[in-house]
Amino acid sequence: MDVTAGYFELHLEEPLSTELTELQGIGPKTEERLQARDIDDQRELLLLIPRKYQRIARHLDGLEMAREHPGYIEAIGRVLHVNDPPSQSRAPTEVVADAQGQHVKLLWFNEPYPGFADQFRSAEWIKFEGEVDWTDQSPSIAHPEQFDALDHRPDRPDPEMALEPVYTSMEGVSDKRLQSAIEQAAERILPRLVDVVPARLRESHDLGTVEEALRTIHVLEPIDDPDEFEAELERARNRLVYEEFYTLQLELTEEYVEERRAAEAPRCTDRKLGRELVRRLPFELTDDQKEVSARLADDLGDRMPMRRLLQGDVGSGKTAVAFAMTAICIGSGHQVAMMAPTDILAQQHYDRALELFEDFDVEIELLTGSLTKSEQREVAERLESGDINFALGTHALFQESVAFESLGFIIVDEQHKFGVEQRDALLAKGRDPHLLAMTATPIPRSLAHTAFGDLDLAVIREKPPGRTPVETYLRRRYSAPDVYEYVRKRVHETGEQAYFVYPLVEPSDEVPNRESAVESAESLANGPLADVRVGILHGQMDDEAKHRTMSQFANGEIDVLCATTVVEVGMDVSNATMMVIESPEVFGLSQLHQLRGRVGRSSADSMCVLLAGRDLTEDARQRLQSFSSTDDGFELAEVDLEIRGPGQFLGIRQSGRAEFRFGDLIRDADLLEDARRDARRQVMGDVAAQSEGGASE
Ligand code: ADP
Ligand code: MG
Repeated sequence: MDVTAGYFELHLEEPLSTELTELQGIGPKTEERLQARDIDDQRELLLLIPRKYQRIARHLDGLEMAREHPGYIEAIGRVLHVNDPPSQSRAPTEVVADAQGQHVKLLWFNEPYPGFADQFRSAEWIKFEGEVDWTDQSPSIAHPEQFDALDHRPDRPDPEMALEPVYTSMEGVSDKRLQSAIEQAAERILPRLVDVVPARLRESHDLGTVEEALRTIHVLEPIDDPDEFEAELERARNRLVYEEFYTLQLELTEEYVEERRAAEAPRCTDRKLGRELVRRLPFELTDDQKEVSARLADDLGDRMPMRRLLQGDVGSGKTAVAFAMTAICIGSGHQVAMMAPTDILAQQHYDRALELFEDFDVEIELLTGSLTKSEQREVAERLESGDINFALGTHALFQESVAFESLGFIIVDEQHKFGVEQRDALLAKGRDPHLLAMTATPIPRSLAHTAFGDLDLAVIREKPPGRTPVETYLRRRYSAPDVYEYVRKRVHETGEQAYFVYPLVEPSDEVPNRESAVESAESLANGPLADVRVGILHGQMDDEAKHRTMSQFANGEIDVLCATTVVEVGMDVSNATMMVIESPEVFGLSQLHQLRGRVGRSSADSMCVLLAGRDLTEDARQRLQSFSSTDDGFELAEVDLEIRGPGQFLGIRQSGRAEFRFGDLIRDADLLEDARRDARRQVMGDVAAQSEGGASE
């Protein structure tokens, strides 16, 4: 499915021509102007939302009010004076009216027709409306929109203040004209609308029909009480937002069900090996881990392939859960593939898997691009013959030459680093295999539900016990010497290790004032950190050098590792308790959070120091401050969504699903939850829709 941005449509009972030019006052010229604003037909016109609402005075006294709320008025007045200059003169035709003591000047700069002014001379009263200009002492209206010369005092107009929609200013299309066109379109279309939101859902969320909503939004009914209008408008808006979310969620759910209805996933029901593996873990699973494991194990036993997104902060123990599921799948006679975005991470998972599965009769292999061609070929052969049970690797796993005997379960770690096509390429290697996508970049729920709406969510919030939260300090560059000295001392006193993170590998003229890993490592090693062991790690090193450095750091042969963001994913060295991030203003919140996750992996107190540059923007300062104030990735994700919008969450941009015409993922998060639940119930029935409820979310 391709959900386009701004997803919303008005559905008609039967085909109806809805061309703009059918409306009075809309000719080809105006049509063109509207089309330039993507308003192609009458339905689109109805979805044009007013920019604001303007109070207009519909009463003589209203002139006083109109002074406070300048704008459009309707009034009556006694004709005091008519000035009708000769037609050759440039002077305007002028009528001065006395509207309850307030003199109003009505002006026509081009006499509309000869003898135009005569009607006012013979009139006693004038009824008029138009835009009031208060720039002079007394109000004037140039070219009143309506006027009526009368010989008797007309009835008083409705004494209420009224509200009038003000639309986006469009060159050459006045608001009056838009209002009239919208009124006409409403008359034709609104009675013929099919409401896609069932009545029972409208009732349960106290939302009206789409017709009612649009009537409110365009002020098509007189307003009884302007003070209540605000609330009514909110309700009307919610109605459109809900429909927008609901429609999207219906499609996502249908896609989700469709894809799996006919599928025959391998039913992995033998949990013996899984239980044994969990027993062998050097720790007890947290409650969240247990609950997610139980849910995933159920998924694995189903004929419908699992499609899960497992979210959990760095270090929350997702991998342990994934390995337990791996054991269930292998114990049930199927192969498992685990894909990671970098060699480093794949290697690390591989090492851990070897250790964990040591006493089991399980064949484990690593498949990355750094193997030789013939080594890769050999692994591929053993995968195809079924000799290997568990393959860990990188993109190399889904290259064409790789085939599996019976691939039952796929784990994609740091899934936001992969595209959908890459995930699909790996899925195609098996017959309806189960899929577990994992991410340590917490994504606000509302966003996850749209961008990844075709996946079920599972969340681990709780951290394993014994972790102390990382203390984070925001410091300026001039404090750097103190920070370095602190690190140096702590390395000597406790033997603990530190990461120094830089945005650049080497200094660059293009981005001055940013610290770089190579240069800083050198100056640290020759200066403030001369008596500790400094290492360096960045993406431009060859694989062998990278691995050497990583294992040296892991073995404690390096005290301080100067690195770029290559350490962002995966590095798991629990003796590293200090992190210094240089030029932190360059990084987004979620990336900073990922980085910080490298420390705080033991019971020792961990710290993270941000050494901010001199010219911090207010935005950056706020971001860094929020970051220092909390360690909770989900909280930060909400802040990040608010500050920078959905686009910066990796992997979201490409989906295009995070953009709405009416809805807002932050403000309307609750409506989205409702819409999602309703849509799932609608498509899957009550029981299945619950599959992601409960604490695991
Ligand atoms: P994630 O993949 O979510 O970042 P990991 O699974 O790599 O987290 O776990 C991070 C660290 O915490 C690992 O060293 C792991 O052994 C350890 N760990 C995981 N679960 C627990 C637990 N329940 N109790 C104690 N330590 C745990
Ligand atoms: Mg991990």
